[in-house]
Amino acid sequence: MEKIIMKTPLVEMDGDEMTRILWKIIKDELIYPFIDLRSEYYDLGLPYRNETDDKVTFDAAYATKKYGVAVKCATITPNAERVKEYDLKEMWKSPNGTLRAILDGTVFRTPIKVNGIEPCVKNWEKPITIARHAYGDVYKNVEIRVPGKGTAKLVFQGEDGTTIEETVFEFDGPGVIQGMHNTDSSIESFARSCFNYALDQKEDIWFATKDTISKKYDHRFKDIFNEIYEAEYKERFEAAGIEYFYTLIDDAVARIMKCSGGIIWACKNYDGDVMSDMVSSAFGSLAMMTSVLVSPDGCFEYEAAHGTVMRHYYRYLKGESTSTNSVATIFAWTGALRKRGELDGINELVSFADKLEEATIDTIESGKMTKDLALITTIKDPVVLDSEAFIKAIRETLEDKLS
Ligand code: NAP
Ligand code: MG
Repeated sequence: MEKIIMKTPLVEMDGDEMTRILWKIIKDELIYPFIDLRSEYYDLGLPYRNETDDKVTFDAAYATKKYGVAVKCATITPNAERVKEYDLKEMWKSPNGTLRAILDGTVFRTPIKVNGIEPCVKNWEKPITIARHAYGDVYKNVEIRVPGKGTAKLVFQGEDGTTIEETVFEFDGPGVIQGMHNTDSSIESFARSCFNYALDQKEDIWFATKDTISKKYDHRFKDIFNEIYEAEYKERFEAAGIEYFYTLIDDAVARIMKCSGGIIWACKNYDGDVMSDMVSSAFGSLAMMTSVLVSPDGCFEYEAAHGTVMRHYYRYLKGESTSTNSVATIFAWTGALRKRGELDGINELVSFADKLEEATIDTIESGKMTKDLALITTIKDPVVLDSEAFIKAIRETLEDKLS
């Protein structure tokens, strides 16, 4: 078979620990034999981030802005222990945080459905995608531990001298206060990313807040979504036969349990944090979840939803066998290759991405899987494979499909 030729390079971001080991095997077994891979390689492994004072992460983010499509391996976000372990010059920031800040995006997470890994919610026939606003609210808050009797005020001082002041509470005794913010521009790009993604996936999109209680804060989110939808997207949604639907967050939670899936659920930052863990665990496993960061100007960065699987890596270093699930990382590659194929008009690349995903799912459905899935599958007598053997089994299924 002739290798598929690419036009534009993919931005490739390598990572850390067990997922870095999987990354190489995936490329050797599932990519290089079939594609004449054009990629601009950035090593986001912690040693090289440290060596370059994290410049490599910024370079990778700017390259993603330039080329439009990236694939990223999981990376370590250093804490005090990691600073010691890797003898770091500094506690470098989360690469995902840096990428999100530069690309200004929304994170979309979708479970990968396989027969034999059944969702806990029996009517969830199709995947539910969570679109999480990744800026502000409680994640960028300021808090005060109130020591005793006194008055809490919220004050805004405009550059032009105007002052807006509200009393938060008259305290009789100790308590707590929290101040948080968001910006119109961040909410606007969240809304556009969501509507673009819904059009791209041809799926309905739901958005929910608590605007009946939060009459200015949450209401602003509702209004911005509504204004942008009416002005920029309504006609395109109607033409695509999809719907934008707004409701209250508690109503959305009740409805989601009764729906059959196949929708995108846009969530404010905190709701998205909580609901994406609920949806992913109800669908089976974090290792069966795709994740893509979509920027308002149309850049796509694909990754796995899980971390670097440190515990498995330490076993690997000791020479022990590991059975680490590579499905989410494989789907990061297929997501990126498919998008590159679509943008460059290379049908073979799109079709290769489809076939590799089918081969991955077929391999599991034939009973061959990693240990995490064997523990939850309804398939009788599954064959548990080690990390490398699982990827090689997928290659066999893929070669059958391609021949
Ligand atoms: P993790 O990598 O998500 O793994 C936590 C546990 O979940 C594993 O020990 C394993 O359980 C299970 N697991 C996760 N992915 C799996 C897979 N593909 N196959 C099989 N089992 C899987 O989280 P962590 O080990 O606590 O974090 C390690 C590092 O990842 C941290 O330094 C963190 O900063 C980083 N991280 C990166 C990202 C990212 O780059 N997007 C996201 C989150 C965390 P068992 O051990 O029970 O088998
Ligand atoms: Mg969380």
